Amino acid sequence: MDNLSNIGVIKEIFAKHNFSFSKQLGQNFLVNPSVCPKIAEMGNAKKGFGVIEIGTGIGVLTNELAKRADKVVAIEIDDRLMPVLEDTLSEYDNVKIINADVMKTDLHKLIEEEFQGLDVAVCANLPYYITSPIIMMLLEERLPIKSVTVMVQKEAGKRLCSPMGTREMGAVTVAVNYFSTPKILFNVSRGSFMPAPNVDSCVVRFDINEKTPDGVTDEKFFFKTVRGAFAQRRKTLLNSVSASMGIEKSKVSKAIEDTGLSQSVRPEQLSMAEFICFSENLKKII
Ligand code: SAM
Repeated sequence: MDNLSNIGVIKEIFAKHNFSFSKQLGQNFLVNPSVCPKIAEMGNAKKGFGVIEIGTGIGVLTNELAKRADKVVAIEIDDRLMPVLEDTLSEYDNVKIINADVMKTDLHKLIEEEFQGLDVAVCANLPYYITSPIIMMLLEERLPIKSVTVMVQKEAGKRLCSPMGTREMGAVTVAVNYFSTPKILFNVSRGSFMPAPNVDSCVVRFDINEKTPDGVTDEKFFFKTVRGAFAQRRKTLLNSVSASMGIEKSKVSKAIEDTGLSQSVRPEQLSMAEFICFSENLKKII
């Protein structure tokens, strides 16, 4: 069904199915007709591709993905939307809806079962309450995917796509740069959603790198160190890692020294190579 971004059509669908928005599930639906075709076009929804969508709402983006990709598998947590989607996506035979929490879904199995012979991309207008955990999961799972194209809050987008070694970065920035090449594609104003959130958004794309950086012997420990480094935002690397990972200060201090860094360095000042070197040195000492 086209025109799912039309407010009149949305209201009719809501009345027919007695549906109301759930704030808790991050339900801000797109009502700007130009946005979904752009996400689909720029997000690899095309011949030869299968697309995983996270959070369908009433199917406005699903519709654009299904027009372009060979197959779409969409995961939506809200069971009240199942009868709605049966209506709004009835014309497509290349769409499968799974009523589940994406964080509890085995995506490796899904890809193997649903996308044989296809390249795979992820596209979504993400629920904002769980943006970082979903992105971290998609990357850290090492899924066989080409790209992740998602709408996020503008500030989150800046943090996700900021280069290493800049003030805006956080733990998620390190993960994003470790696994992919990130890019902000375009901005989307708050008025493009119903209900309108309090902040503007942007669409970002992570092109998954074929190879991750050299030098990491234990990826789990590397990301534990990265999370520990940013756990206490305004602290130095020394204080944050020692407090959040429960490691004696003298040991963290030695790892910092062995990496050739100043004891007062802050986590956001480290390059990828320095983070890797620091985590390897820390692992040897503890
Ligand atoms: N794609 C639609 C659009 O653009 O209008 C809806 C986007 S809305 C921001 C986020 C959607 O994600 C909602 O439909 C919500 O129910 C769903 N959602 C929230 N948490 C989820 C989770 N853990 N797993 C799967 N879907 C989830």
